[in-house]
Amino acid sequence: MDMIDPFGRTISYLRVSVTDRCDFRCTYCMAEDMTFLPKKDLLSLEELDRLCTVFIEKGVKKLRLTGGEPLVRKNIMHLVRQLSRHLDSGALEELTLTTNGSQLSRFAAELADCGVKRINVSLDTLDAEKFHQITRWGNLGKVMEGIDAAQKAGLKIKLNAVALRDFNGAEIPELMRWAHGRGMDLTLIETMPMGEIEADRTDQYLPLSLLRASLERLFTLSDIPYKTGGPARYVHVPETGGRLGFITPMTHNFCESCNRVRLTCTGTLYMCLGQEDAADLRAPLRASEGNELLDAAIDEAIGRKPKGHDFIIDRRTSRPSVSRHMSVTGG
Ligand code: SAM
Repeated sequence: MDMIDPFGRTISYLRVSVTDRCDFRCTYCMAEDMTFLPKKDLLSLEELDRLCTVFIEKGVKKLRLTGGEPLVRKNIMHLVRQLSRHLDSGALEELTLTTNGSQLSRFAAELADCGVKRINVSLDTLDAEKFHQITRWGNLGKVMEGIDAAQKAGLKIKLNAVALRDFNGAEIPELMRWAHGRGMDLTLIETMPMGEIEADRTDQYLPLSLLRASLERLFTLSDIPYKTGGPARYVHVPETGGRLGFITPMTHNFCESCNRVRLTCTGTLYMCLGQEDAADLRAPLRASEGNELLDAAIDEAIGRKPKGHDFIIDRRTSRPSVSRHMSVTGG
């Protein structure tokens, strides 16, 4: 039985934040002194597996592990290995993850062995100094080792870069040439007003409509219908031979085709990244060994999926549109 929301959208894509913790502190994502959830509040890997399995039985075809940083969750490969049985059975079409790449050199080969074919790696700059500045705690060399290891293991990589005014706008052509030269797609993302951070989001926000216009002075950007199941719209760039994606939650709303819901590591289901409404799945999960209660709670939540988000970044709106940080629900 497919999950269909009140606007007729079929939900086939689940993103699971397996931990809210991260080994980076990207300035647009988190405060430096973030308070993380006590470990005892986390669902166990077995509970996460059970929840994911119920979603797969209810029609989820694509599952993305995210965070926080998914690869810092203890024994995460146990969960990946368990979930890969749904690839083997054909119930799941794709198992993937979004990572900052810091731990990839350790896990790339095993991910590939578990049937993961493509991953997203977040990388905002190729300059080691600037990388350290934006991530606060990150080391570009480690991420590069991770990317090398992933490509060696045969994983396809899509790079994600958050476009930040006065930080990486001018560097995007170089990032594009580098990514495309190594056979990776690059997707640019607009920064979203999620959670309190030290910086002013109006200073960080770079509309992709502006960035696209400046890229068009250097490259031919031809729209193509290519889709990966997410919200990016793609162009082909003949000069580099690669694909460039745009994720534009601020300047262009893409909610009419939303096929996603997001589960946190405490079993809270968010039906929209940009809204506060959520459903607790931990209580029904723990209330019985059978899945009837869980099934009903998921149906009820899907029935409340909102039409879309309404993010605002401007000088008059000092509060974030949603109070939780991106690290709670992941990308
Ligand atoms: N740690 C993993 C990583 O770095 O990819 C997964 C989680 S991270 C929260 C997922 C993605 O969200 C990253 O690409 C990150 O750059 C992006 N991100 C974080 N905060 C954001 C914000 N406020 N607006 C837009 N993207 C954001």
